[in-house]
Amino acid sequence: MTLTRQADKPATSNDSPRVDYHCHISMTEYADIENPTVVSVTLEEFLADLDEAGFQKAVVLSDKRTSPEQVSAFVSRASDRLIGFGYVNPTHGGSGDEVLKQRGELGLFGLKLYPTTDGYFVNDPDVFPVYEAASGIGMPIMFHHAGMPDPGDLLKHSDPALIDEVAYSFPELKIVLAHLGYPRVDETLYVARKHANVWCDISWPYGNINHPSYPFMLWKDLLTALNLGVINKLIFGTDYPGVRQRPYMDMMLNINRYATHEDLKIPQEMLRSIATDNIDPLTPP
Ligand SMILES: [Zn+2]
Repeated sequence: MTLTRQADKPATSNDSPRVDYHCHISMTEYADIENPTVVSVTLEEFLADLDEAGFQKAVVLSDKRTSPEQVSAFVSRASDRLIGFGYVNPTHGGSGDEVLKQRGELGLFGLKLYPTTDGYFVNDPDVFPVYEAASGIGMPIMFHHAGMPDPGDLLKHSDPALIDEVAYSFPELKIVLAHLGYPRVDETLYVARKHANVWCDISWPYGNINHPSYPFMLWKDLLTALNLGVINKLIFGTDYPGVRQRPYMDMMLNINRYATHEDLKIPQEMLRSIATDNIDPLTPP
């Protein structure tokens, strides 16, 4: 059965679909760090939330909780709207063959890697077969590229300088750095500046964090991206269902309320493109 209902009217002034490039089916929510909770959604709830926010498409990521097989089954029920990403752990036998299998047998378009949680350096040659396989079939790799509240998830494994090496060694590999590299946002943006095939998603750090000043942080980081000439390499993502599309999109489109001077405003067209045109090179043809 295919469950689809396109949003009634185009979400943007241009023709590109509006995409949330960072979603899960089930995830741990850390709004209260002492008491993390698990949030899960059904396909019906997922599509209803996309419709409500005027999003035509979404990337669904595999992770520790949701296997590539589960993601494949989930997205196949709405294949015109959902784009599945697999997952391998190179420290536990995740190999180039496994990458090819997830594309070939499970139909997964991209791959997600979790170097902080799985505890490896992304520039370790043991991981290179994964990059070679993905690069050879045009499979984008999204890295979880941020700190995690767990004391055992070490920041050294999400150092932007390591991604810099990977991007240099695998120039054809399409790389998405999730969460803008938080808390090393400026360095992460600079890696995107250096390498043609590196993008950054803006999911999570501006979502349910500790103080209502978080939109101000997004405005500041968007301004840095504008200054570095890489705002066209930012892509929209939420970390759904921990963060919902509607409030996150509204926050981004209204971000210029933090600009205290004309020179500090982000052009509105550039903001709209973060959820549309910027994502085009990273979606199936
Ligand atoms: Zn995520």
